[in-house]
Amino acid sequence: KPIVIITIGMAGSGKTTFVQRINSYLHSLDTPPYIVNLDPAVTHMPFDANIDIRETVNYEEVMKQYNLGPNGGILTALNLFTTKFDQVLSFIEQRADVVDHVILDTPGQIEIFTWSASGAIITDAVASALPTVVAYIIDTPRTIAPATFMSNMLYACSILYKTRLPFILVFNKTDVQPHDFAIEWMQDFEAFQAALAAHGSQREKTGDSDPSYMDSLMNSMSLVLDEFYKHLKAVGVSAVTGDGIPEFFEAVEKSREEYEKEYRPEIDRLT
Ligand code: GDP
Ligand code: MG
Repeated sequence: KPIVIITIGMAGSGKTTFVQRINSYLHSLDTPPYIVNLDPAVTHMPFDANIDIRETVNYEEVMKQYNLGPNGGILTALNLFTTKFDQVLSFIEQRADVVDHVILDTPGQIEIFTWSASGAIITDAVASALPTVVAYIIDTPRTIAPATFMSNMLYACSILYKTRLPFILVFNKTDVQPHDFAIEWMQDFEAFQAALAAHGSQREKTGDSDPSYMDSLMNSMSLVLDEFYKHLKAVGVSAVTGDGIPEFFEAVEKSREEYEKEYRPEIDRLT
Protein backbone atom coordinates (compact mmCIF):
# COMPACT_ATOMS: atom_id res chain seq x y z
CA LYS A 1 0.00 0.00 0.00
CA PRO A 2 1.28 3.50 -0.76
CA ILE A 3 1.62 6.17 1.90
CA VAL A 4 0.18 9.62 1.28
CA ILE A 5 2.41 12.60 2.14
CA ILE A 6 0.47 15.84 2.59
CA THR A 7 2.81 18.84 2.41
CA ILE A 8 1.62 21.79 4.46
CA GLY A 9 3.45 25.00 5.35
CA MET A 10 3.51 28.79 5.24
CA ALA A 11 3.70 30.54 1.88
CA GLY A 12 7.27 30.48 0.66
CA SER A 13 8.41 27.75 3.07
CA GLY A 14 9.34 25.64 0.04
CA LYS A 15 6.50 23.09 -0.33
CA THR A 16 6.61 22.99 -4.11
CA THR A 17 10.41 22.88 -4.25
CA PHE A 18 10.35 20.11 -1.64
CA VAL A 19 7.81 18.11 -3.65
CA GLN A 20 10.05 18.45 -6.68
CA ARG A 21 13.05 17.28 -4.66
CA ILE A 22 11.37 14.18 -3.22
CA ASN A 23 9.91 13.46 -6.66
CA SER A 24 13.36 13.39 -8.24
CA TYR A 25 14.76 11.41 -5.29
CA LEU A 26 12.05 8.75 -5.69
CA HIS A 27 12.63 8.66 -9.44
CA SER A 28 16.33 8.01 -8.77
CA LEU A 29 15.28 4.98 -6.69
CA ASP A 30 13.06 3.77 -9.55
CA THR A 31 9.94 4.22 -7.43
CA PRO A 32 8.22 7.25 -8.99
CA PRO A 33 5.49 8.76 -6.80
CA TYR A 34 1.95 9.73 -7.74
CA ILE A 35 1.65 13.51 -7.44
CA VAL A 36 -1.48 15.57 -6.91
CA ASN A 37 -1.22 19.36 -7.22
CA LEU A 38 -3.89 21.14 -5.16
CA ASP A 39 -2.60 24.68 -5.75
CA PRO A 40 -4.76 26.30 -8.46
CA ALA A 41 -2.57 29.43 -8.47
CA VAL A 42 0.88 27.89 -8.88
CA THR A 43 2.68 29.63 -11.73
CA HIS A 44 5.87 27.61 -11.83
CA MET A 45 5.48 23.90 -11.19
CA PRO A 46 8.83 22.19 -11.61
CA PHE A 47 7.38 18.66 -11.86
CA ASP A 48 4.67 16.80 -13.77
CA ALA A 49 1.67 16.17 -11.56
CA ASN A 50 -0.42 13.07 -12.25
CA ILE A 51 -3.45 15.05 -11.20
CA ASP A 52 -3.47 18.84 -11.41
CA ILE A 53 -6.27 20.99 -10.01
CA ARG A 54 -5.51 23.50 -12.77
CA GLU A 55 -6.76 21.05 -15.37
CA THR A 56 -10.16 20.96 -13.65
CA VAL A 57 -10.66 24.57 -12.55
CA ASN A 58 -9.25 27.85 -13.80
CA TYR A 59 -8.98 30.00 -10.71
CA GLU A 60 -8.71 33.26 -12.63
CA GLU A 61 -12.02 32.45 -14.33
CA VAL A 62 -13.47 31.59 -10.92
CA MET A 63 -12.30 34.99 -9.58
CA LYS A 64 -14.02 36.80 -12.44
CA GLN A 65 -17.17 34.74 -12.42
CA TYR A 66 -17.77 35.01 -8.67
CA ASN A 67 -16.19 38.45 -8.30
CA LEU A 68 -13.55 37.29 -5.82
CA GLY A 69 -10.05 38.33 -4.81
CA PRO A 70 -7.09 35.98 -5.22
CA ASN A 71 -7.55 34.09 -1.93
CA GLY A 72 -11.30 33.75 -2.46
CA GLY A 73 -10.60 32.51 -5.98
CA ILE A 74 -8.14 29.89 -4.75
CA LEU A 75 -10.48 28.74 -1.98
CA THR A 76 -13.47 28.51 -4.34
CA ALA A 77 -11.39 26.63 -6.91
CA LEU A 78 -10.36 24.18 -4.18
CA ASN A 79 -14.01 23.80 -3.12
CA LEU A 80 -15.07 23.04 -6.69
CA PHE A 81 -12.26 20.53 -7.08
CA THR A 82 -13.17 18.85 -3.78
CA THR A 83 -16.64 18.02 -5.11
CA LYS A 84 -14.79 15.67 -7.50
CA PHE A 85 -12.35 14.30 -4.97
CA ASP A 86 -13.97 10.85 -4.89
CA GLN A 87 -12.81 10.48 -8.51
CA VAL A 88 -9.30 11.58 -7.57
CA LEU A 89 -9.28 9.01 -4.81
CA SER A 90 -10.35 6.26 -7.15
CA PHE A 91 -7.52 7.20 -9.57
CA ILE A 92 -5.10 6.96 -6.66
CA GLU A 93 -6.54 3.63 -5.55
CA GLN A 94 -6.23 2.24 -9.08
CA ARG A 95 -2.49 2.89 -8.86
CA ALA A 96 -2.12 1.55 -5.33
CA ASP A 97 -0.39 -1.66 -6.46
CA VAL A 98 2.37 0.05 -8.41
CA VAL A 99 3.03 3.22 -6.42
CA ASP A 100 4.74 3.52 -3.00
CA HIS A 101 4.17 7.23 -2.38
CA VAL A 102 1.35 9.64 -3.13
CA ILE A 103 2.30 13.29 -2.66
CA LEU A 104 -0.13 16.19 -2.23
CA ASP A 105 1.13 19.74 -2.81
CA THR A 106 -1.17 22.31 -1.20
CA PRO A 107 -1.89 26.01 -1.96
CA GLY A 108 0.83 28.55 -1.09
CA GLN A 109 -1.20 30.24 1.66
CA ILE A 110 -1.42 27.71 4.49
CA GLU A 111 -4.85 28.73 5.84
CA ILE A 112 -6.59 27.94 2.55
CA PHE A 113 -5.95 24.27 3.13
CA THR A 114 -5.83 24.05 6.92
CA TRP A 115 -8.83 26.27 7.76
CA SER A 116 -11.21 25.26 4.99
CA ALA A 117 -13.84 22.56 4.80
CA SER A 118 -12.24 21.35 1.57
CA GLY A 119 -8.86 20.84 3.19
CA ALA A 120 -10.50 18.82 5.98
CA ILE A 121 -12.56 16.77 3.50
CA ILE A 122 -9.52 15.95 1.37
CA THR A 123 -7.39 15.10 4.41
CA ASP A 124 -10.06 12.84 5.92
CA ALA A 125 -10.75 11.16 2.57
CA VAL A 126 -7.13 10.18 1.94
CA ALA A 127 -6.45 9.27 5.56
CA SER A 128 -9.40 6.89 5.72
CA ALA A 129 -8.32 5.20 2.48
CA LEU A 130 -4.53 5.01 2.87
CA PRO A 131 -1.73 5.48 5.40
CA THR A 132 -1.16 9.23 5.57
CA VAL A 133 1.44 11.56 7.07
CA VAL A 134 1.61 15.35 7.30
CA ALA A 135 4.94 16.91 6.25
CA TYR A 136 4.94 20.36 7.85
CA ILE A 137 7.48 22.45 5.94
CA ILE A 138 9.27 25.22 7.84
CA ASP A 139 11.34 28.07 6.44
CA THR A 140 14.26 27.56 8.84
CA PRO A 141 16.10 30.87 8.15
CA ARG A 142 12.86 32.70 8.96
CA THR A 143 12.25 31.00 12.30
CA ILE A 144 15.45 31.85 14.13
CA ALA A 145 13.71 34.48 16.29
CA PRO A 146 12.28 32.65 19.35
CA ALA A 147 8.84 34.29 19.06
CA THR A 148 8.53 33.41 15.36
CA PHE A 149 9.70 29.91 16.10
CA MET A 150 7.06 29.51 18.75
CA SER A 151 4.22 30.86 16.62
CA ASN A 152 5.20 28.52 13.79
CA MET A 153 5.27 25.57 16.23
CA LEU A 154 1.86 26.54 17.64
CA TYR A 155 0.47 26.54 14.12
CA ALA A 156 1.93 23.08 13.53
CA CYS A 157 0.52 22.00 16.88
CA SER A 158 -3.01 23.08 15.91
CA ILE A 159 -2.76 21.10 12.66
CA LEU A 160 -1.52 18.02 14.51
CA TYR A 161 -4.43 18.11 16.94
CA LYS A 162 -6.92 18.80 14.15
CA THR A 163 -5.80 15.96 11.89
CA ARG A 164 -4.38 13.62 14.58
CA LEU A 165 -2.20 12.18 11.80
CA PRO A 166 1.46 11.19 12.04
CA PHE A 167 3.43 14.38 11.70
CA ILE A 168 6.92 15.28 10.48
CA LEU A 169 8.40 18.72 11.05
CA VAL A 170 10.55 19.40 7.99
CA PHE A 171 13.07 22.17 8.66
CA ASN A 172 13.77 23.27 5.09
CA LYS A 173 16.49 25.48 3.61
CA THR A 174 19.27 24.06 5.79
CA ASP A 175 21.68 25.13 3.03
CA VAL A 176 21.03 28.70 4.24
CA GLN A 177 20.49 28.05 7.96
CA PRO A 178 21.24 24.76 9.77
CA HIS A 179 18.37 23.59 11.95
CA ASP A 180 20.39 22.54 15.02
CA PHE A 181 19.11 25.53 17.03
CA ALA A 182 15.54 24.29 16.48
CA ILE A 183 16.35 20.76 17.64
CA GLU A 184 18.06 22.21 20.69
CA TRP A 185 15.04 24.38 21.54
CA MET A 186 12.70 21.42 21.12
CA GLN A 187 14.77 19.10 23.30
CA ASP A 188 15.89 21.54 25.92
CA PHE A 189 13.22 23.74 27.40
CA GLU A 190 15.77 25.76 29.35
CA ALA A 191 17.77 26.56 26.23
CA PHE A 192 14.62 27.91 24.62
CA GLN A 193 13.80 29.97 27.71
CA ALA A 194 17.30 31.37 27.67
CA ALA A 195 16.86 32.37 24.02
CA LEU A 196 13.55 33.99 24.87
CA ALA A 197 15.11 35.91 27.75
CA ALA A 198 17.97 37.13 25.56
CA HIS A 199 15.44 38.21 22.97
CA GLY A 200 13.37 39.94 25.67
CA SER A 201 16.28 42.01 26.93
CA GLN A 202 16.99 43.07 23.36
CA ARG A 203 13.44 44.25 23.09
CA GLU A 204 13.77 46.28 26.29
CA LYS A 205 16.75 48.06 24.84
CA THR A 206 14.79 49.03 21.75
CA GLY A 207 12.06 50.45 24.02
CA ASP A 208 9.12 48.13 23.19
CA SER A 209 6.25 48.36 25.67
CA ASP A 210 5.60 45.69 28.32
CA PRO A 211 8.05 42.94 27.37
CA SER A 212 7.23 41.06 30.59
CA TYR A 213 3.72 40.23 29.37
CA MET A 214 5.05 38.68 26.15
CA ASP A 215 7.71 36.76 28.00
CA SER A 216 5.32 35.22 30.49
CA LEU A 217 2.84 34.36 27.73
CA MET A 218 5.59 32.69 25.76
CA ASN A 219 6.85 30.84 28.81
CA SER A 220 3.45 29.23 29.34
CA MET A 221 3.04 28.46 25.67
CA SER A 222 6.37 26.73 25.57
CA LEU A 223 5.11 24.35 28.26
CA VAL A 224 2.27 23.37 25.91
CA LEU A 225 4.77 22.90 23.10
CA ASP A 226 6.97 20.66 25.24
CA GLU A 227 4.14 18.12 25.28
CA PHE A 228 3.55 18.59 21.53
CA TYR A 229 7.20 17.89 20.64
CA LYS A 230 6.95 14.42 22.18
CA HIS A 231 4.44 13.48 19.49
CA LEU A 232 6.42 14.25 16.40
CA LYS A 233 9.53 13.69 14.36
CA ALA A 234 11.80 16.45 13.08
CA VAL A 235 14.21 16.41 10.17
CA GLY A 236 16.37 19.06 8.52
CA VAL A 237 16.43 19.16 4.72
CA SER A 238 17.40 21.34 1.84
CA ALA A 239 14.94 21.10 -1.01
CA VAL A 240 17.58 22.80 -3.14
CA THR A 241 20.60 20.56 -2.47
CA GLY A 242 18.75 17.37 -1.47
CA ASP A 243 20.41 17.24 1.93
CA GLY A 244 18.44 15.25 4.52
CA ILE A 245 16.00 13.66 2.07
CA PRO A 246 16.91 10.03 2.99
CA GLU A 247 16.32 10.92 6.66
CA PHE A 248 12.96 12.38 5.69
CA PHE A 249 11.96 9.04 4.14
CA GLU A 250 13.09 7.17 7.27
CA ALA A 251 10.65 9.37 9.19
CA VAL A 252 7.97 8.59 6.59
CA GLU A 253 8.42 4.84 7.16
CA LYS A 254 8.14 5.31 10.93
CA SER A 255 5.00 7.36 10.33
CA ARG A 256 3.52 4.51 8.32
CA GLU A 257 3.93 2.20 11.34
CA GLU A 258 2.48 4.85 13.62
CA TYR A 259 -0.51 5.24 11.31
CA GLU A 260 -1.18 1.48 11.30
CA LYS A 261 -0.81 1.26 15.07
CA GLU A 262 -2.65 4.37 16.21
CA TYR A 263 -4.74 5.93 13.46
CA ARG A 264 -6.05 2.92 11.53
CA PRO A 265 -7.67 1.17 14.53
CA GLU A 266 -9.47 4.41 15.35
CA ILE A 267 -10.95 4.62 11.82
CA ASP A 268 -11.94 0.97 11.88
CA ARG A 269 -13.62 1.50 15.22
CA LEU A 270 -15.63 4.45 13.88
CA THR A 271 -16.72 2.85 10.61
P1 GDP B 1 5.80 27.22 -1.42
O1 GDP B 1 5.03 28.50 -1.49
O2 GDP B 1 5.79 26.68 -0.02
O3 GDP B 1 5.38 26.19 -2.43
O4 GDP B 1 7.35 27.58 -1.70
P2 GDP B 1 8.24 27.40 -3.03
O5 GDP B 1 8.60 25.97 -3.23
O6 GDP B 1 7.58 28.09 -4.14
O7 GDP B 1 9.58 28.12 -2.58
C1 GDP B 1 9.63 29.47 -2.15
C2 GDP B 1 11.02 30.03 -2.32
O8 GDP B 1 11.95 29.36 -1.46
C3 GDP B 1 11.57 29.84 -3.73
O9 GDP B 1 12.29 30.99 -4.08
C4 GDP B 1 12.50 28.64 -3.60
O10 GDP B 1 13.54 28.66 -4.54
C5 GDP B 1 13.04 28.84 -2.19
N1 GDP B 1 13.45 27.55 -1.58
C6 GDP B 1 12.71 26.43 -1.44
N2 GDP B 1 13.40 25.46 -0.83
C7 GDP B 1 14.64 25.96 -0.59
C8 GDP B 1 15.84 25.43 0.02
O11 GDP B 1 15.93 24.28 0.48
N3 GDP B 1 16.92 26.28 0.10
C9 GDP B 1 16.88 27.55 -0.39
N4 GDP B 1 17.99 28.29 -0.26
N5 GDP B 1 15.77 28.07 -0.97
C10 GDP B 1 14.66 27.30 -1.06
MG1 MG C 1 3.80 26.00 -3.76
